[in-house]
Amino acid sequence: MFLTISTTGTAAHPATDLGFLLHKHPAKAQSFSTAQGTAHVFYPEAAEHRCTAALLLEVDPVALVRRGRGKGRGGAPDSALAQYVNDRPYAAGSLLAVALSTVFKSALRGVCAQRPERAARPLPLRVEVPVVPARGGADLVRRLFEPMGWRVTAEPVQLDPRFPEWGESRYVSLLLEGELPLSAALRHLYVLLPVLDDAKHYWVAPDEVDKLLRAGEGWLEDHPEQKLITARYRSRRWSLAREAMERLELARLAEADDTEAEELDNAVDESVDTEEKPVPLAAQRREAISGALRAAGAARVLDLGCGQGQLVGELLKDVRYTEVVGVDVSVRALNVAARRLRLERMGERQAGRVRLLQGSLTYTDARLKGYDAAVLSEVIEHLDLPRLPALEYAVFGSARPHTVIVTTPNVEYNVRWETLPAGHSRHSDHRFEWTRAEFADWAQAVAARHGYAVAYRPVGPDDPEVGPPTQMAVFTLAGDTATTTTTTTNQKEAAA
Ligand code: SAH
Repeated sequence: MFLTISTTGTAAHPATDLGFLLHKHPAKAQSFSTAQGTAHVFYPEAAEHRCTAALLLEVDPVALVRRGRGKGRGGAPDSALAQYVNDRPYAAGSLLAVALSTVFKSALRGVCAQRPERAARPLPLRVEVPVVPARGGADLVRRLFEPMGWRVTAEPVQLDPRFPEWGESRYVSLLLEGELPLSAALRHLYVLLPVLDDAKHYWVAPDEVDKLLRAGEGWLEDHPEQKLITARYRSRRWSLAREAMERLELARLAEADDTEAEELDNAVDESVDTEEKPVPLAAQRREAISGALRAAGAARVLDLGCGQGQLVGELLKDVRYTEVVGVDVSVRALNVAARRLRLERMGERQAGRVRLLQGSLTYTDARLKGYDAAVLSEVIEHLDLPRLPALEYAVFGSARPHTVIVTTPNVEYNVRWETLPAGHSRHSDHRFEWTRAEFADWAQAVAARHGYAVAYRPVGPDDPEVGPPTQMAVFTLAGDTATTTTTTTNQKEAAA
């Protein structure tokens, strides 16, 4: 299944700016592995006057069935075969919508550092989707897209051109033309393709309704078909296999934009200090965390949301740590971590001290029980707030290490970043950034719910007005003898 997005341009505003807006270079063909299959992005044409980006999603129906998401269409499978032989590979319905939101996540949000003015403004756009499953027919397609200003051409696809008497299929070929901001166009497709699709969305997470509402901001509220749109979402079966949710989350996080986001974070980090050789904030954070781990007397440590394994690598250099386990949901991050740590070339003894596990922190995981300490460094803010209680339970309720160290940005400090525009978060994937009071409220409640005591440490220069750039909470299981008060983590030492 595929769709193309085209725009036209001039010498002053070349059409190839589409590449900036989509965060995908027009000269490259790129492939992304998503929960829905392999998504390819490429540009059949990329010239100043006209540029077309294509998103092609390769779906493997057998793999979908194995993961429990291919069980026929419209509820129970018509026959055993229907789960394998169906329109999933070629009809641009909900799977394509989710792939689109995954691969073009930043574009969907209208984020574009290089061409912010073009991201915000309407562009001449032409969107073509050759096969759209359209429950409600061409007429409904028009009713859904026209209110936002699209000129809609929806041609019913014949069942078989060799046998015209068979009539029309329930698919249409769709052409949308209009002058709209690219992010609006993507959000229209993301929300409306699944509405037209009659599959039961067994692969959609319950928080998809929230995402729908977010993507519908600014146009869904007063859409004449708003009732129908939301009703079709709500009629889905939201009860899902845990695995399906995990995969969805994985796709969301493992997607293309996150490395870019990390780079942004690191770039911001470099500006932290004006001294001659500023210690990057990320390094100060690791130093603060190591200090708290030493103070807690931890030997077996989990690094939850370990990313590319920098902290894991540092801890391994210290023999006091007998076991260091990095956990992340992103396979890509773990692959980088494995390379960085040279896992394959490690001696047996060293290799015995370290493990990298793929897993989601919003699900309880028996592999994580029984450790001295767990670190959540710059992880919680990557979760949607409604998912935070799930992480809380998995870490503090189920894994229950003696010590839990949590760091997160202090949003009050953002005014001190010279490179950060007002009101922006430090990282394009941050779902929230907290003040010191908000963080303390959360930490206090978590500690009370799960029987931990909590202490706070600043990381980085502790500004008298706005506090430090990073805030850290150290949770200790109540009744535990290890203490976190004799710590080396105050900012002066950390910065030294
Ligand atoms: N701890 C590292 C990386 C922080 S970036 C550091 O301090 O530099 C956040 C990391 O959390 C990413 O690698 C992301 O893949 C991971 N992450 C986000 N949500 C997750 C979840 N639900 N389960 C596991 N890892 C998650």
